[in-house]
Amino acid sequence: MARTGFHEVADRVFVARYPQWDVNVGLVLGRDGAVVVDTRASSLQGFEVLDDIRRLGMDVTVTHVVNTHIHFDHVFGNTAFSAATVHAHANVGRGLEADVERIKALFRADPDDGPELGYTSRDVVEVLATDVRGPDCTFEHSATIDLGDRPVSLTWAGRGHTDGDICVHIADADAMFLGDLVEESADPSFGGDCWPLEWSDTLTSHLNWLGPESVVMPGHGTPVDAAFVQRQRDDIERVARVIRERHAEGWTLEAAVAEPDDRLPYPLPALEAAIRRAWEQVPQPTTRS
Ligand SMILES: [Zn+2]
Repeated sequence: MARTGFHEVADRVFVARYPQWDVNVGLVLGRDGAVVVDTRASSLQGFEVLDDIRRLGMDVTVTHVVNTHIHFDHVFGNTAFSAATVHAHANVGRGLEADVERIKALFRADPDDGPELGYTSRDVVEVLATDVRGPDCTFEHSATIDLGDRPVSLTWAGRGHTDGDICVHIADADAMFLGDLVEESADPSFGGDCWPLEWSDTLTSHLNWLGPESVVMPGHGTPVDAAFVQRQRDDIERVARVIRERHAEGWTLEAAVAEPDDRLPYPLPALEAAIRRAWEQVPQPTTRS
């Protein structure tokens, strides 16, 4: 996949899809500035985004950056946007330093090419060289960026892919960025920091804002519609239902991660972290003494 730059998906709402980690970056234009949604995986990659914005030839000044969640492929490029205010959920602010160390340690241990994820060892060098810039403004539930002629709404509706995933909603354009709460080019990613039992409820909240004409940008892959988000929500709910059932029936964790079930919409190995996380997260029955 080559770098193809930004294209407009709704009124003055653009998206660019980049080959490394197949990640999406959004651009929302307004009278008094512009918002960039996610910044890719390194300082260098952030500067490439700025370059692609310049290539639009529209005299855009990026006044705000929004990080949809904490993961490096959405945050590390913040450094390139020195003149902009960076917004993210409070949990991103709280957790970023530790997550930067975690991800850099992983790449130091395995700095080779990742062809299946579209990155090379040169990209890894850039990730490791990046002095990560965290958010300037954080919020717990909601925030609004005023671009003069249009508001951009940031909403946290609960935990899911991580504990700090937010929705970026441009109501007048009927467009929404959902970060990795939804993925199009791959199955949703259940990692070691996911909240599998709460994820579907979070998506249900965001679905309230969507209609038949809405355009939704996933963290990875092509834009989707509300029906796609609904289907992925239902699949994620199926995962939670099977996990809850196993826990309630007293399965051991070892059995729960090993036993297939036809109702699971994703391959079992991709759900191992979700099952482990759920075992830590399911409230334990309180015992009387
Ligand atoms: Zn992610």
